[in-house]
Amino acid sequence: MDIKNSAINYLSHLSSRGVRYVTNVEPVKETIKKTVVPTVTNVTKASSPINKIKMSDSVDCSNVKSLEEIRACIGDCKRCRLSEARTNIVFGEGNINADLMFVGEGPGQDEDQTGRPFVGRAGQLLTKIIEAMKLKREDVYIANIVKCRPPGNRTPVDDEIMTCSPFLMSQISMIKPKVIVALGSPATCTLLNEKIKITAIRGTFYDWKDGIKLMPTFHPAYLLRNYSTDNRRFVWDDMQKVMAFLEQGRNL
Ligand code: SF4
Repeated sequence: MDIKNSAINYLSHLSSRGVRYVTNVEPVKETIKKTVVPTVTNVTKASSPINKIKMSDSVDCSNVKSLEEIRACIGDCKRCRLSEARTNIVFGEGNINADLMFVGEGPGQDEDQTGRPFVGRAGQLLTKIIEAMKLKREDVYIANIVKCRPPGNRTPVDDEIMTCSPFLMSQISMIKPKVIVALGSPATCTLLNEKIKITAIRGTFYDWKDGIKLMPTFHPAYLLRNYSTDNRRFVWDDMQKVMAFLEQGRNL
């Protein structure tokens, strides 16, 4: 297929998903290093992680080489409508050499106020989960697919995710975790570039890309709303798989 027809098909696909405009700045180059990853069972192949999203501002973000440069590239971002009501951009935080990364949906009110990810009630539950995994928050890296709070904590929509998630992809490229835990449907669907129900796929490792495994699980906010024994056990089962995988890698 020639370039013109490919472009027409791609734009038609975006249009069918409700995207009303696209931008034309080059994407951030990804510099993922290869890592040795142990064999695990029950791995499902991810179809095509989002890695083709275009950066959408006049700032040249194509040669970022550190998290600081990504943050500088974001600047006082007004690339999407989520800038209008935000207080702070929530970039993400944690260990830049983390083996484990948690990716959520977007900042809530507490995160918007503080500029830090996962510090509200759901964040406190995530911290407990991390500590139950015998880790500290400082051992992992925590970020979201959008960096500004959607009004009323609504789910971010496709064009907002498309505009913002390249920053996340660049963060992942810098951190090079061994495992990404995708918290909830929006994070999972964004990272796998597929519309999938979290209930259908949680607890299964996906081959994401460049040796990184992806484990979808319930978002802590969902867990708080549906605090049943079963749901808590599901999440803990998923985290035990992640712990076993990381331990397996350490022993290679
Ligand atoms: S959500 Fe992302 S793209 Fe949108 S304004 Fe905030 S930082 Fe920029």
